[in-house]
Amino acid sequence: MSASHEPTSHTFEANAREALANARLQKALGAASGRFVSHRASAVAERPDFEELRRCGHAIKQEALDRLPQLLEQFEEHVVARGGRVHWARDAEEANQHVIRIAKNENVKRIVKSKSMATEEIHLNHALEAAGFEVVETDLGEFIIQLDKDIPSHIIAPAVHLTKEQVSEIFERELRETNAPGAGIPGLNAIARRTLRKSFLSAEMGISGANFAAADSGSIVIVENEGNAGLCSTLPRIHVAVVGIEKLVPRFDDLAVMLKLLGRSATGQRLTSYTNFITGIAGDGEEGPEQFHVILLDNGRSKIYDDDHLWGSLRCIRCGACLNACPVYKRAGGHAYGWVYQGPIGAVITPQYLGLERAPALPYASSLCGACFEVCPVKIEIPHMLLELRSQVVEASTEASGAAPKRPFFESLSFGAFAFLGRRPKLWDFATRLGRWLLRARSSDGQIPALSLPLLNRWTARRDLRAPARETFREEWARRRGRADAEADA
Ligand code: SF4
Repeated sequence: MSASHEPTSHTFEANAREALANARLQKALGAASGRFVSHRASAVAERPDFEELRRCGHAIKQEALDRLPQLLEQFEEHVVARGGRVHWARDAEEANQHVIRIAKNENVKRIVKSKSMATEEIHLNHALEAAGFEVVETDLGEFIIQLDKDIPSHIIAPAVHLTKEQVSEIFERELRETNAPGAGIPGLNAIARRTLRKSFLSAEMGISGANFAAADSGSIVIVENEGNAGLCSTLPRIHVAVVGIEKLVPRFDDLAVMLKLLGRSATGQRLTSYTNFITGIAGDGEEGPEQFHVILLDNGRSKIYDDDHLWGSLRCIRCGACLNACPVYKRAGGHAYGWVYQGPIGAVITPQYLGLERAPALPYASSLCGACFEVCPVKIEIPHMLLELRSQVVEASTEASGAAPKRPFFESLSFGAFAFLGRRPKLWDFATRLGRWLLRARSSDGQIPALSLPLLNRWTARRDLRAPARETFREEWARRRGRADAEADA
């Protein structure tokens, strides 16, 4: 997505190519994704029952979807009973207008915001600024990209595409902080903290999203590591939470499971540093906002809910684990996906939110290796959904042109050759032996650094290819079976 908020999902391939050629981006992505993956692996290894937790997380979110209409009404009743207000928003325009109306009615001038994908989705900042309000993002990553007029590139780490040197440059340029270059990460944090503190203390309204909403208590839950969401939702006199309708869980007690899954899957933490449970307005003698508004956002979720194949994507708890595990995301980065949701889950939900015709390349932005499903804490079958979307792309294209879409020449040629050989086992054996021999002859130390054949050279342009094994699986199988048979005969 460009900074003008126009989605660029339809040009995924070109976006990805540009990202691959950006050495700074590759450095930032390489450092961050390795860290995320190893932290998650250690946190998961601590829990021998993690698979059971995943099963429970899946069941909780599935029950929430099964009973969604009823749970939403129950949630509203409890919010109102605790002095809050619920506003229903069919789309981005309605949601933004609710927030603007509340702010105007209460003479708000300055607004602080904590990180929220739902507000990114509806471009709330843009709408508020156009209506004359000053909006300050207070999550460190969001603060950086707001200063840089950029857009997030990761569900939980919005500025993951930037190196610390780039952040120093942004602070120096936008905040006139001459000490920023060379300040290091602690120094940059101190600059951000100092700047944001003034905004927290002067804002009349705080806006947040929610990670979960408990139907039986009317509570919303916000997890974070910086403390800024807690400040946004308690210091200003008005708190507005923009909550996608899929964030519901049936019971407050379900949070015991969901929070264990979220922290471990997102950042590799047992729990995030702060977990904010917000239930209604401040009571007598309590500190906190005088007004609590929840905007319940649909914006296309009902349409997904009605899709037999894709509705499971509403179980997503936006942990970002599938992004970190995805070999495509790790190289292409988040901006390549062209909208607010990135990685494997972005490839599934962006075509649903924007319309398949505006993101037809995204279902193909995957090798279907299944790594996303392996790490998903709520077991979303992303590879199956991508296949379903691919078939919808083909159907739509067939309907539009009256004929099945033409495959690229080399793709047709290679699949044709594969089918031809696959039907002739002897020829298959000969061809695979020959290919193996040729590839091994080109290898050194078990790697093939460059292939000169057209198309295949694209694979080795940015990575080494492992040399094929000495034996194929079938040869090894036959050899072992022969040995076992000989032993049995002896
Ligand atoms: S699809 Fe699963 S792994 Fe990916 S962000 Fe959503 S919950 Fe996390």
